[in-house]
Amino acid sequence: MNHRLGGTRFEVVATDTVTPTDGPTGASTSSASGYVQPEVDVPALTRLLDGRYAEVRNLVRSNLSAYSSILTDAETLSRADYRERVKELVVEMASTGQTGMGFPEEYGGGGDIGASIAAFETLSFGDLSVLVKVGVQFGLFGGAILQLGTERHHEAYLRRIVTGELMGCFAMTETGHGSNVQALGTVATYDVATQEFVITTTREDARKDYIGNAAEHGELAVVFAQLEVGGEGRGVHAFVVPIRVRDDSGELVPAPGVTIADDGLKMGLNGVDNGRLWFDEVRVPRDNLLNRFADVTPAGVYESPIDNPNRRFFTMLGTLIQGRVCVGGAGINAAKVALTIAVKYALRRRQFEASGEQEELLLDYGMHQRPTSSPPSRATTTSCCSWSPRACSPTTPATSRTWTSSGWSASWPAWPSTPWWRRPASTACWSGCATCCPAATSGTRRPACSTRSTSWRCTASARST
Ligand SMILES: Cc1cc2nc3c(=O)[nH]c(=O)nc-3n(C[C@H](O)[C@H](O)[C@H](O)COP(=O)(O)OP(=O)(O)OC[C@H]3O[C@@H](n4cnc5c(N)ncnc54)[C@H](O)[C@@H]3O)c2cc1C
Repeated sequence: MNHRLGGTRFEVVATDTVTPTDGPTGASTSSASGYVQPEVDVPALTRLLDGRYAEVRNLVRSNLSAYSSILTDAETLSRADYRERVKELVVEMASTGQTGMGFPEEYGGGGDIGASIAAFETLSFGDLSVLVKVGVQFGLFGGAILQLGTERHHEAYLRRIVTGELMGCFAMTETGHGSNVQALGTVATYDVATQEFVITTTREDARKDYIGNAAEHGELAVVFAQLEVGGEGRGVHAFVVPIRVRDDSGELVPAPGVTIADDGLKMGLNGVDNGRLWFDEVRVPRDNLLNRFADVTPAGVYESPIDNPNRRFFTMLGTLIQGRVCVGGAGINAAKVALTIAVKYALRRRQFEASGEQEELLLDYGMHQRPTSSPPSRATTTSCCSWSPRACSPTTPATSRTWTSSGWSASWPAWPSTPWWRRPASTACWSGCATCCPAATSGTRRPACSTRSTSWRCTASARST
């Protein structure tokens, strides 16, 4: 199948691959000023960007659209109601299958980790409390049960986790230790007499903090604690600990020995019920140790196929890497939303009569272009002028960009160690820009760059700022 993309013909050779078949073939529209508007085949571009998980992304996009009222709810509901609405919505989304794609099919999941990452990052185009609640419930809590537990844990919990019926927490961070997980202060001591682990918050800064689902909705928590067996420390391990139980009227109340507090108002994500947890000698059965990488026998013998404690610790944490990948992907998509709003607004809003009869478009101001065109996006721009005045140094030449059989080949100057926003503008820099952007003049006058639609252009008018 052939597609046109930015004046280039593309052949779709697989659902996740789009290959250029020849060089630029011109463009569809041109204005009196000489600006050429490239033709963009939107469906082909969408296929290219969606990749092999297009169907998954479409499902999430349609759910985002169906539940878009949450964006208003976030502004208008009380914090308590907003939290409840986010929870309801997460459970409703779970019923469409979008949040369970990373779980095995036998437990109601989709059996495809890649699909779950695609679904998660697409979800970040919407309300971020929904995203984080999904991340806590299915990625962190469900992911820990799946990755650190064994069949008995999977059988006991996964089906109800996938539907959202059983809400839970990933209780790793403590007030005293966030990044340094190996130094956590919560202790789990094995009691051979009762074959139970005794979970204890050993000091005030060992309380669990900022734990999603803790303040309101979580029934279980995967608690990360220092395991002690027969008086010997075995390092951080994960335990399933009930933090809420139902009282006689069916209401969820804190489990015996568990103290729960609300982290309260945050700078964002107020639809997520983050909370604090303290454990006062809370007893859980021996089976509640998530024992994929280490176990304790009933008689109190510690066993692990990984001898080295450090290697064991990092193997355990390594299985949770999916959460980090998801956060990166979601962060990028959330930034795309902000960028799109900034660019679209700046293409409509005019302020101050800097030149000509009309007031200037916001996007024609260099100060507005800078935050909307960060270094990682420079390879996608089509004119050196859109970025090289910021990126180049007095000694680095402007970039060149050529078409090759395998696509665009761009040679960019080495990224300077000093960030662009701290670099003084230099004559050589502007002069270099002029070599690939003929309208730019060197010397004291700087080229003015603006953007129309999807491509950058260098305007003939120069601005002496
Ligand atoms: C909204 C929200 C939700 C959360 N949900 C959960 C949850 O559900 N479960 C959970 O367990 N936790 C949760 N957390 C906690 C989160 O995981 C921690 O905030 C995170 O691990 C960082 O720990 P910290 O805040 O103690 O920062 P610190 O570890 O004190 O780090 C502070 C700064 O120092 C830097 N730093 C630390 N150590 C080093 C080093 N060795 N070298 C260089 N730089 C370093 C860090 O990068 C950071 O910039 C949540 C936090 C927030 C804000």
